[in-house]
Parts: sequence; structure tokens; C-alpha cells
Amino acid sequence: MKKNTAAQSIQELQFFGEFGGVNPSISDSSTYTFLSAQSMADTFEGKTEGCYLYSRHSSPSGLYLSEALAKMEATESAHVFASGMGAITSVILQLCKSGDHVVSSRTVYGGTYAFMKNFAPKLTIETSFVDIVNLKAVENAIQKNTKVLYCETVSNPLMEVANIQALAKIAQKHKLTLVVDNTFTPLALRPKELGADVIIHSLTKFINGSSDTLGGAVCASEEFINKLKDVNDGAAMLLGQTLDSLRAASVLKNLRTLPIRMKQHSTNALYLAKAFQSLGFRVIYPGLNSAKSHEIMKNQMDESIGFGGLFCVDLGSLENANLFMEMLQHKNLGYLAVSLGFYKTLFSAPGSSTSSEIPENEQKEMGLSKGLVRFSIGLDYNIHHTFEEMKSCLEALKIKPSSMSI
Ligand SMILES: *Cc1c(COP(=O)(O)O)cnc(C)c1O
Repeated sequence: MKKNTAAQSIQELQFFGEFGGVNPSISDSSTYTFLSAQSMADTFEGKTEGCYLYSRHSSPSGLYLSEALAKMEATESAHVFASGMGAITSVILQLCKSGDHVVSSRTVYGGTYAFMKNFAPKLTIETSFVDIVNLKAVENAIQKNTKVLYCETVSNPLMEVANIQALAKIAQKHKLTLVVDNTFTPLALRPKELGADVIIHSLTKFINGSSDTLGGAVCASEEFINKLKDVNDGAAMLLGQTLDSLRAASVLKNLRTLPIRMKQHSTNALYLAKAFQSLGFRVIYPGLNSAKSHEIMKNQMDESIGFGGLFCVDLGSLENANLFMEMLQHKNLGYLAVSLGFYKTLFSAPGSSTSSEIPENEQKEMGLSKGLVRFSIGLDYNIHHTFEEMKSCLEALKIKPSSMSI
């Protein structure tokens, strides 16, 4: 029997609410009763299955969402967090103690980079940042005390695609835990099947998709998830970053439309990426045949979902980028905002916003030019029309492709 794809897997679960509802009932309680004093004591010692104790540990609504996400990522278990950063920091602190070392991609989410670079060293957990597509550099950065190899499936904002299978081999050889942030490519990529150990999501982005809440998730083995939730030593339990029940229930409902949303985001992004490229602009999108990451992405992905909703266009200068973004917002073609995965297009200039913590000379070396605009393309029904409007903005502002970008 052929194995289900991630998109099919999230439809496998059947939930019934308390009154036979088609949605599971929401647990509106922070604490839970026990029928006997003995079962309370047993639960504290982790001896009981299926007993709820206190919602920071777990709640029925949190478990429903966790179960669905574990199915999606083909992992044994999952746990949901109050934000993506809550998930990321808990995983690092669970895997590393004082004196340990992390090897991370240098192009990770800004908050992740800041945590590893500025915060974790206060606990003497040091990180070496490397170019994740340079496998030699990755291996060379590994030290005796390295515990974690960390990357994102597709990097922000340059859309470099990590070769997860190759990274998994390196991690195995050196007995490291491979942690992969799959926020940009839910359903399209399934890192577990490529050899990753721990998969992280910011639910805030595509998975919830309505820009109304923060949320995060860790998908991993039952053993690791239980460690995170351990009442005596678990980072999720003790740092207290658990997702609230009401939000868990609302994210679960939005998860159901993720397959059709991801397809539409991808179709629209591919259309616009090709259209901007045909005008002569430098476009970064793994879906383009000309992209450096095209083949590696193709080898790892579920092609029915597509190459994702994000791409970058180089408009030559920060001034051009700013004028263009302001005009797009003025014409109601999207919002000048960070984040991604919304029904409407969101755009920002990463060099001066989400990637501004990267020093200027490094930005230049990476190809992160000042005029780069990152788009998270929305669910526009008529993307051809959207492009015509965008093109007229470019014409009105007299923005032309320049040979001297970067
Ligand atoms: C947004 C984001 C995060 C952080 O998630 P929050 O929910 O904002 O805490 C982590 N990784 C990636 C790739 C992101 O885009």
C-alpha cells in the first residue's frame, strides 16, 4: 500500500465532540478532577495514561491538535506551544546543557538567530553559524561538545533549500539531533521521512493561516515529547509555553483547509515569480527552473502541493523597494507587514527588517541585497489581474530591472 502524503494524513483522524459535534469539544478548564486521591498521585509520577492533570502539561484540545500535527509530520507524537519561539527555545534548552554546542544554518529566522547568538551563550550554550548548503562547512563546524544540528527547510529570505537527507547522514555520523524548522513548507516537505529527528513549526504562519494568533509545535518521537512535558525536567512544562485550549481548537479547525491553501499560495507564487522574472528582475523562488535550489527541493517534496508561497524580487535599491511596497498597500494588493501565510499578500524588505540583525557585509556576501522585497503571496482568486496591477505600479514608479543589483 502506498503511504499517505502529509496532506492526506491530516484528514485521517476522526474526532467527535462531547455532544456528537463534528468538531471536538473545547476543554475550557485549566485543572482537572480525579476520582481518587491515588490516581492523582499516580498521574504526578507519570504512571497513568489518558488522565489530565493541569493544562500547562496537556489538555484535550491541545492533544487533538498535537495528534493531527504528528500525523502530518509522520512522527510518533507532538506538543503544541504558545508560539514558534516557545517551541524553538524549549527544544534547544531540552537538548543542550551548559557547555554544549549547536551547529546552525546562518540564515535562520531572526528570533532563532538572536536566541542562539545572544541569549543561549548566557547559559554557555554556544552556536556556530554556517552556510547550510555547504555540507563540508557543516561537518567542519562540528565539535566534541556539539549536540544539535539546526536548520530550516527553506531559508528566509534567500530561499536556500536544506538537503535534509545529507544533513541527517552527518547528524547520524556524529550522534547529533537534527532539528528542522518546517514553517515555510508544511505538507510540501516531510523532514521526518528524510531523516530529521525533531520538526518544529510556527503555527502562526501557514498552518493557522489567518494571522489572528501565535502558536508553535514540536513533532518528534514519543520519548522526546514526553521529556519536553516531564513535570520535573521538561522545558515545555517548566518554561510554561503551552498553547491555550481555545487557540488549539481554532488552529485545528484552520489546519483542515491547509492543503487547498498551500496549493493556492504555491500556484500564485509560481505565477508571479515567473512573471517578475520575465520582466527581467532577479527573482528568488525554488519553483523556478533557474533556481539553484530547484532540483534539491524537487527531490524532497510532494509536488502536488507546490514550491510554497514565498519569493523575493530584487528591485535594485531600498528606495525602489519602499516606494513599491507603499504603492502596493495603497492599491490594496497586500499589506506592508512581516509574517507569512495570510490570505492576503504580505511584503517586507528583509535587509532592513526581518534580517536586519545580520551585519551589512554578511548580507552582501549572502546576496541579500538592499532592494530585495520578500513576498508571502496570498490566496488571490485572479492572480493574472494581481500581476497586471503590480506591473502598473512598477511603471508608475519607473522601476526597471537593473543589472547592478546586489
Ligand atoms: C515566524 C517564524 C518563527 C517564530 O514563530 P512565532 O510563532 O512568531 O514565535 C520561527 N521560524 C520561522 C521560520 C518563522 O517564520
